[in-house]
Amino acid sequence: MNEWGTAFHDSWGFFGEDERVTGREYTPGMADNCIFCDKPAGNREHLWAQWIHERHDFGPIRMQRGNKEEIIVPDPKITVKSVCAKCNNGWMNDLENANIPLLGSMMQDLSLRLEPDQQITVGRWVTKTAMVLDSTRPRVDGIRFYTQDECAGMRTSLVIPARTRIWLGRMPSKHLHAGGTDFLYRRKEDGKPIVHSFINSFVVGHFVAQMMTQHTLDGFDDHTIPDLESKAGDWENQLLQIWPVEREWIMWPPTVPFTNGGALGIGYLLDRFRIGDNVEKVEPLKP
Ligand SMILES: [Zn+2]
Repeated sequence: MNEWGTAFHDSWGFFGEDERVTGREYTPGMADNCIFCDKPAGNREHLWAQWIHERHDFGPIRMQRGNKEEIIVPDPKITVKSVCAKCNNGWMNDLENANIPLLGSMMQDLSLRLEPDQQITVGRWVTKTAMVLDSTRPRVDGIRFYTQDECAGMRTSLVIPARTRIWLGRMPSKHLHAGGTDFLYRRKEDGKPIVHSFINSFVVGHFVAQMMTQHTLDGFDDHTIPDLESKAGDWENQLLQIWPVEREWIMWPPTVPFTNGGALGIGYLLDRFRIGDNVEKVEPLKP
């Protein structure tokens, strides 16, 4: 990390758990066009598919951006206005259905052997969900992290974007969480931003997923990008990498779970890459 500076900013997300909380209602501001096909989004669609809510009532959702005040959303069925009905009822619904036996088992704490094609199926669900979550980010001139090409690639061929890694974990108690954090690498000598990393973390019941995608400025390829350094932790035993697929098969859950607090807590996972300075705003890279 010697010749690289890092800056982190802006995490936001939705948190839900069994503990019931009350508060005022909040409607997030959203894009009006479908992020996957660019047609008018029309109606609001669910962030979490209906089948997830049918399996468990997660209760009210807490919502937070950065260090700002937390807002309570009474209904966990959060809706977004950034997906059209055709995508939602078409390929996205197919992807949900393919994940019900996989994600559905893990969210209910049933251990599962995941073959490579199943690891990819779950990875695609995580990617789709990260792209939808990206569209709910507080707007900076309507800029999102995932490009139109990346979103279109997901819609047409379920392509997971380049320079993406996805890991799975487990929590012993049931929660609902979706949150994102941006990191920007700046070159130390001139402060020029060269790598933008976007980390998303999800908890659905007992299922935990984390995804990282990196965008780089032209001229900085894989060989010149340093890995985003994570804090020290028991990641080897708490996380299973599913993308890129590394193993013939994996057994979920990993040996060590993320507890709801403490040294092995889920909060530590959400903060895994939070190193460097906190800044008010990270502008996405424009190659
Ligand atoms: Zn669409």
